[in-house]
Amino acid sequence: MSQRTGIVRRVLARLSIRHRTATPTRKRAASCREVEPLFSGGRRRFVRQLGILAVGLAALKVQVAEAVYKLIKNVRLWRSPDKTRLVFDVSDAVEHHKFHLSNPSRLVIDVDGARLSGSFSGLQLKDTPIQKIRHGPRNKSDLRIVLDLSEKVSSESFLLKPNATYGHRLVVDLFDDKSRKPQPVVRQKPAGYRDIIVAIDAGHGGEDPGAIAYGGGYEKQVTLAIAKELANLLSKEKGFRPVLVRTGDYYIDLRRRTQIARDNKADLFISIHADGFKDHRANGASVYALSRRGATSETARWLAQKENASDQIGGEGGISLGDKDDVLAGVLLDLSMTSTLSSSLEVGNKVLANMGGINRLHKKQVEQAGFVVLKSPDIPSILIETGFITNPGEARKLKSSSHQKAMAKAIFNGAKSWFYKKPPPDTLVAKWKQEGTLNTRPSRYVIKPGDTLSEIADQFDISMNDLKRANRLSSANTIRVGQVLQIPD
Ligand SMILES: [Zn+2]
Repeated sequence: MSQRTGIVRRVLARLSIRHRTATPTRKRAASCREVEPLFSGGRRRFVRQLGILAVGLAALKVQVAEAVYKLIKNVRLWRSPDKTRLVFDVSDAVEHHKFHLSNPSRLVIDVDGARLSGSFSGLQLKDTPIQKIRHGPRNKSDLRIVLDLSEKVSSESFLLKPNATYGHRLVVDLFDDKSRKPQPVVRQKPAGYRDIIVAIDAGHGGEDPGAIAYGGGYEKQVTLAIAKELANLLSKEKGFRPVLVRTGDYYIDLRRRTQIARDNKADLFISIHADGFKDHRANGASVYALSRRGATSETARWLAQKENASDQIGGEGGISLGDKDDVLAGVLLDLSMTSTLSSSLEVGNKVLANMGGINRLHKKQVEQAGFVVLKSPDIPSILIETGFITNPGEARKLKSSSHQKAMAKAIFNGAKSWFYKKPPPDTLVAKWKQEGTLNTRPSRYVIKPGDTLSEIADQFDISMNDLKRANRLSSANTIRVGQVLQIPD
């Protein structure tokens, strides 16, 4: 049955007219009495039925329009450091064409058989190359959308299928003109020793909200908040430097996330997530490293793209695969993947041990899975599920800034203690460790004039409560010069 026939049937049904095909054939003799005449039974009834007909016809008109035209219902804009993403909500999969015009710069998007049913007026265009969005009908049946641009951009567009949050979508990406961007300044360390670089990847973002939190909110917001807290802690720590893979509410492809870590020469990649499950009782935090199977298939993939592998594992001081034969390249890559994987498991265990202090753990050991973001052959990588955002208790905690801070601190402590044990050789931390000046925590501390309990707790990275409990101190916080404090682990 075509959509239009269906609509006609529904309208006819509302007017109490039985459709001819609905008439049972065996009552053929009485069939003329079964079909009510269109307007019967006096003037008032006629007027009422006329009214119903008018309403029916209006509904028919709207429904026919919907059936004929696809509707552009809404638009969202996500701005990331190098591109602007426009996402149009459409009533169905649409056909579209786009082309660029210059002087002045414009991008034209023609959508076949479409109408705009929403509005473009609420969009925040600040800090984007878009100055204005215009639209109008084209060829009687199509919709033309024109983006007036302040600069040259390149563009890509594609359709997205419905997911849990949105329906069909038309996505248009505008990539910033690279020449406009200043080249990143490479920081030179005169002594040749460098900071340890930790890439922090806040899961999801933009059009991908991640899991939906119990009581409202999204995983993408929690992951970014914890990532920023972690970056803050690392930026204050001598010998460490954070790199935030995602800095705002926009989506980054999974492979691009590991690429950003590699471009920044990261020593560790930490992807932050929060679990979601249909059963609200599920709870607990977990840490993942790449599975052996995922590592094996990834090694194969890298070898299949040898040029790719050469710049990824290569670079200064790295292993260059470009000039090796396939067998040797395979062995080297496999070695790199294996040592990276064992490092990932070690750092994952440290983080897990620290997280156990602030949250119930879903599993007591590091789990292994084939997550794409964990597939760098040369950077130890872990993925942290900070708890179940679908669990009422954990959702409340994950959305609170105090718990986000505590979670970041646990991850920070875990990563730091691993790097203190195994610092990369050319780093400041490695140098301090060799000189014996690395600030390792003593088991005792003698109080000096001017010391306060909170400063001592801060210095040794422990909570005031732990410090007081270990030394059976009263709530008065009184200490005296010369007093010996036990520093708990
Ligand atoms: Zn996630």
